[in-house]
Amino acid sequence: MKIFSDYSLTELQQELNWLPRFRAKQIFDCILQAKDYNQLLIDKENLAKLKDDYILKPVSILKVLTSRDGTKKYLISLADGNIFESVFLHQNYGNTICLSTQVGCRMGCKFCASTLNGLVRNLSAGEMLSTIALLNADNGKASERNFTNIVLMGSGEPFDNYDNVVKFLRLVTDKSGFNVSERNISLSTCGLVDKINEFSKLNFNITLCVSLHATTDEVRKTIMPIANRYTIAEIVNALKNYVKINKRRVVFEYCLIKDVNNSTQDILRLKDITKGLNCHVNVICLNPNGGSLKATTRAEAVKFVEELNKVGVSATLRRSQGEDIAGACGMLRAKTINKLN
Ligand code: SAH
Repeated sequence: MKIFSDYSLTELQQELNWLPRFRAKQIFDCILQAKDYNQLLIDKENLAKLKDDYILKPVSILKVLTSRDGTKKYLISLADGNIFESVFLHQNYGNTICLSTQVGCRMGCKFCASTLNGLVRNLSAGEMLSTIALLNADNGKASERNFTNIVLMGSGEPFDNYDNVVKFLRLVTDKSGFNVSERNISLSTCGLVDKINEFSKLNFNITLCVSLHATTDEVRKTIMPIANRYTIAEIVNALKNYVKINKRRVVFEYCLIKDVNNSTQDILRLKDITKGLNCHVNVICLNPNGGSLKATTRAEAVKFVEELNKVGVSATLRRSQGEDIAGACGMLRAKTINKLN
């Protein structure tokens, strides 16, 4: 089966050239408003033909958890029964959708719940776009855009699903579609250097974020297997190149883990790593997922950020939203799968 939301409007017009031209636009509007076949006004004969070959609504809401702070965490199911998460965050500078790019993940980061059961499969560009449409419709009028920002920081490694993610970026920024500004999109990667370099050449004006989480390759290898493949120095070089081409400040994510990456030496090494690079460090308090890694206190994290600022590193502590609803990557899915098994 093909998925309609994998197509841009122009591609849809070509694909459906056996139908009157307005049909493609009609279906495209259904995609953007997360409508299903019941809501498509079309004659029975053509409806049957379309249903045979195409999925109109590839995602549906399985469960929603709403946090005290208004953050809504969605468990989404796919046509093949697989499930993944997405989050809608209400913020005063514009709502944000946090999107997954894969069902599961194969990167194996020790602190991350998304990777616990490995990678199941990639999400297609259309499945990602339809998830945006689904959450948009659930948080306001389906015919309007109810969010401003998208962060590719849900489950999965976006650059491990490179082609689909690039296609998704093209679809979601398309003027005839959601028309999201590239400047309002952030993509987080664990640091696949070759893909960062490839991506730089595409000239997207999005914010590139890299999960650093350690200041030496030795320590990084103990929590992030990808560190066996690429060094911090290689990541920094790739980011310098990205900034040169795209003129966008890059972001390091740094999840504070007690006695692993929160020493005074780490602060000094972060200063060295970030020197000469237009970047910001986003410090995050670890959301413990039951493993051996322990979080610092929030006060220790505040102090860590203050020390970074003192030595001239641009850094802030990320406000934690939705903690009471398993807000961190993959936690809700992991819980649900464990219950099902
Ligand atoms: N694979 C990508 C994007 C997904 S993770 C990446 O690695 O960047 C998005 C961010 O959440 C990453 O910085 C990730 O390291 C962080 N994260 C994952 N699990 C976490 C946890 N338990 N507590 C705090 N942050 C976590």
